[in-house]
Amino acid sequence: MTDSTTPKNKLEGKVAIVTGGSSGIGEATARHFATHGARAIVIADVQDEMGQRVAASISPNICSYVHCDVSDEEQVRTLVDSTINKYGCLDIMFSNAGIGQATNKCVQSVFDIDLSAYDKLMAVNARGMVACVKHAVKAMVEGHVRGSIICTASVSASVGSYGGVDYSMSKHAVIGLVRSASLQVGSYGIRVNCVSPGVVGTPLVKDTMRLENDEQVGKMQELSSYLKGGLLMPKNVADAVVFLASEDSQFVTGHNLVVDAGCGGCG
Ligand code: NAD
Repeated sequence: MTDSTTPKNKLEGKVAIVTGGSSGIGEATARHFATHGARAIVIADVQDEMGQRVAASISPNICSYVHCDVSDEEQVRTLVDSTINKYGCLDIMFSNAGIGQATNKCVQSVFDIDLSAYDKLMAVNARGMVACVKHAVKAMVEGHVRGSIICTASVSASVGSYGGVDYSMSKHAVIGLVRSASLQVGSYGIRVNCVSPGVVGTPLVKDTMRLENDEQVGKMQELSSYLKGGLLMPKNVADAVVFLASEDSQFVTGHNLVVDAGCGGCG
């Protein structure tokens, strides 16, 4: 007999890649994948020590770490190929790695936008997503796997952002990718969706918003939440990702699932 607090094995036997899994939303999702019975989870990131620690703490038997800079297509290809060689298939790609705007000002002005910083941000947040989706769909089609791909967008993907022009652009690109790719791969039974978090207390938000401590992060989250009774945590986004990865969402594709406590883009 199970109740709502009993973990259900929604991902029993699945093989998953989580990019940006060394920290924040990716780390929480890798942990959720394990709780839900995934057979293998490959954490891919550029923060090697942290990623190795996370993988070991989940379980060295099912979780491993691979260094992969998602802005480099060769590294993404190697990540996917090595996953297939080791585990035989790829069922779930959580393409989540991302960075915040690189500016020393809180508000990035369109009048003096730094285009080399823009190139760096787009290389990870947009190009990196395309590389992950491209190599995941190829592997899934070749392996005859009716897989699920989930990308991390943002509430900044659906509305303009006063403070972050390039970040908002990069996340709009994710929605365009998901909507278009889902149309092309639906005939193979592959689903492509994205999740759009509001303000989640992670290092990315702390750095981007120049917040000094967790208390300030909590204040920021409270201000951007219309839903009283708690702050949005990485595990709350991970719950949405598990839904999109599992058969519970078997007829959901091309969708942007917003998890923002009602902030509607003010994050
Ligand atoms: P985070 O900084 O805790 O995690 C991001 C991870 O991505 C880090 O481990 C980092 O090392 C990794 N990463 C960065 N560049 C990489 C690269 N080139 N290749 C591989 N890995 C790389 O931040 P987070 O908040 O958990 O962010 C995860 C995703 O969620 C990002 O795409 C971010 O844009 C998105 N997001 C976050 C929030 C929020 O409020 N935290 C809101 C909306 C969207």
